[in-house]
Amino acid sequence: MTTGKINVSVENIFPLIKKFLYSDHEIFLRELISNATDATLKLKHLTNIGEAKVDYGNPKIEVKIDKENKTIHIIDQGIGMTAEEVEKYINQVAFSGAEEFLEKYKDSAKDAGIIGHFGLGFYSAFMVAEKVEILTKSYKDEPAVRWICDGSPEFSLEETADKTERGTEIILHIAEDSTEFLEEGKISELLLKYNRFMPVPIKFGTKTETLPLPENAAEDAKPETVEVDNIINNPEPAWTKAPSELKDEDYLNFYRELYPMQFEDPLFHIHLNVDYPFNLTGVLFFPKLANNLNIEKDKIQLYQNQVFVTDEVKGIVPDFLMLLRGVIDSPDIPLNVSRSYLQADGAVKKISSYITKKVADKMASLINENREDFEKKWNDIKIVIEYGMVSEEKFYEKSDKFALYPNVDGKYFLWNELQDKIKANQTDKDGNLVILYATNEHDQHSYIQAAQDKGYEVLLLDSPIVPHLIQKLETSKEKIQFARVDADHINNLIKKDEPIISKLNDTEKEALKKSIEEGISDTKFTVQLEDLESTDAPFVITQPEFMRRMKDMQATGGGGMFAMGGFPEMYNLVVNTNSDLAGKILKIENAEDKTAQIKHAVDLAKLSQNLLKGKDLTDFIQRSYQDLAK
Ligand code: ADP
Repeated sequence: MTTGKINVSVENIFPLIKKFLYSDHEIFLRELISNATDATLKLKHLTNIGEAKVDYGNPKIEVKIDKENKTIHIIDQGIGMTAEEVEKYINQVAFSGAEEFLEKYKDSAKDAGIIGHFGLGFYSAFMVAEKVEILTKSYKDEPAVRWICDGSPEFSLEETADKTERGTEIILHIAEDSTEFLEEGKISELLLKYNRFMPVPIKFGTKTETLPLPENAAEDAKPETVEVDNIINNPEPAWTKAPSELKDEDYLNFYRELYPMQFEDPLFHIHLNVDYPFNLTGVLFFPKLANNLNIEKDKIQLYQNQVFVTDEVKGIVPDFLMLLRGVIDSPDIPLNVSRSYLQADGAVKKISSYITKKVADKMASLINENREDFEKKWNDIKIVIEYGMVSEEKFYEKSDKFALYPNVDGKYFLWNELQDKIKANQTDKDGNLVILYATNEHDQHSYIQAAQDKGYEVLLLDSPIVPHLIQKLETSKEKIQFARVDADHINNLIKKDEPIISKLNDTEKEALKKSIEEGISDTKFTVQLEDLESTDAPFVITQPEFMRRMKDMQATGGGGMFAMGGFPEMYNLVVNTNSDLAGKILKIENAEDKTAQIKHAVDLAKLSQNLLKGKDLTDFIQRSYQDLAK
């Protein structure tokens, strides 16, 4: 037996390891199973190339808990290690690796933004164990060895007859403060979190399986049960396969496997598969979003060679796709770095823009393949698409191919189709195309109606991103102007060929304006006289587009620029000088009667803009009843 002292400069590295990211002690299991997986796959490689003359068989990795002895065992059937290799890889390489890792990250370890924490490797065992044993037998014809270390830099290494099978068994003698890891429930939770899709089968206990009855079984035959290995992982998850090998059903099954608590199937999937200039595979799913903004749970998961790393993928996945679900697997994402670094990293940026491009291409192909189906799903995906359009230039550039603009009657237009549809009769006096839209078909009903009566197309743009999207479209497309249906009177929004002759002269108009201003006595309203068709509504309340849009943007987080906010509420009261009511008001002699008429008419206009509330509404109703009784 040899004993020795591991050569480290930090006198005792273990307290440091223990302290390292306290909350992440659980990663020891992932690290040890990763090592076991590596050892197994290395053997596979060596047998494949004929270097190892052993039978590879159907190796698995076993995790066992021995509660009585307070140990956890991780057993693999991989390449194993000779005494010399333990000396080299465990005492020297692993140790210096751990030391280097801690040196490098001990400060940033406080940064909650650290993700992954890969690289600590074998020595992470000491985060939970007071003593670690390695029992290992190399695939080479050499005796098995036992290595023991109690957490100080001293270790012992001796030959042993206790292990006859090829492979490595790591035995963790769990420390007093970590006994939670001796609970079966805890270990199963960790296995499910980190190892669910690792490439070598992982056994944790056994389970009872009922055998099917043979065909010639007697009526009263009872089915037999057997104990079988409880394999906790799926070693070949969908994303590791080629898209051509998979059917829609396979993707669906994978989604259900990933998110067993999601009862609604995803709308569609996107298979990611690149090997240059970086390696990345994965499958992203578009969930139904319309009524389900539960984005906290069930996020996109990041894997590295099938080992779960994190579901904090900010930076790697562009922001607008954070609402998606699925898996990304890449060995090229630096894992030991803080998030601020991640966002500046070149490789990560490339990955993010690759994903953006891939999603845009997929959208374009989906709408080409089946427009009707895409339209049906639009309501569920529009938030993601619209957010992508305002936040990612590359996505925006492609969006004319798939972004839809529905009208209030449920017809969907692509951008070019929309332009073609309205260019003949929806321009303003400066020759800009006027795109009328509503944000709520019920609240803005009377305005939509007024526009439709004149034969105009009205879009229904009701997602919270719309104010930003409109801004984006207006600044990047030529000669277009969006206006909500209540932004101004429709006759002012869209150019009419012939001017309308006014029934009132200037003196009459002035008198009318003055009486109405006195009648409403509210500084939020600006009275605006217009010569409209006599059939147009006499009084209409409008909200100027610009101010209203700024307010809306502020409400949906328009960014720092608008953060100071405080946009005043501003309305115009458009009075139709050619309406019968205007003519009548002008003629009323009695000042009191005049004010009463004006007030009532303004209240009606407020009602159709949803502005009549509280006491004003109560008074209005009482007054109306009294009038009816007269
Ligand atoms: P890393 O895995 O990042 O190289 P570790 O500290 O986890 O670092 O392990 C150091 C080395 O010890 C590995 O590279 C490998 O050679 C060896 N090793 C660890 N675990 C096993 C195992 N289960 N079977 C065979 N070799 C192992």
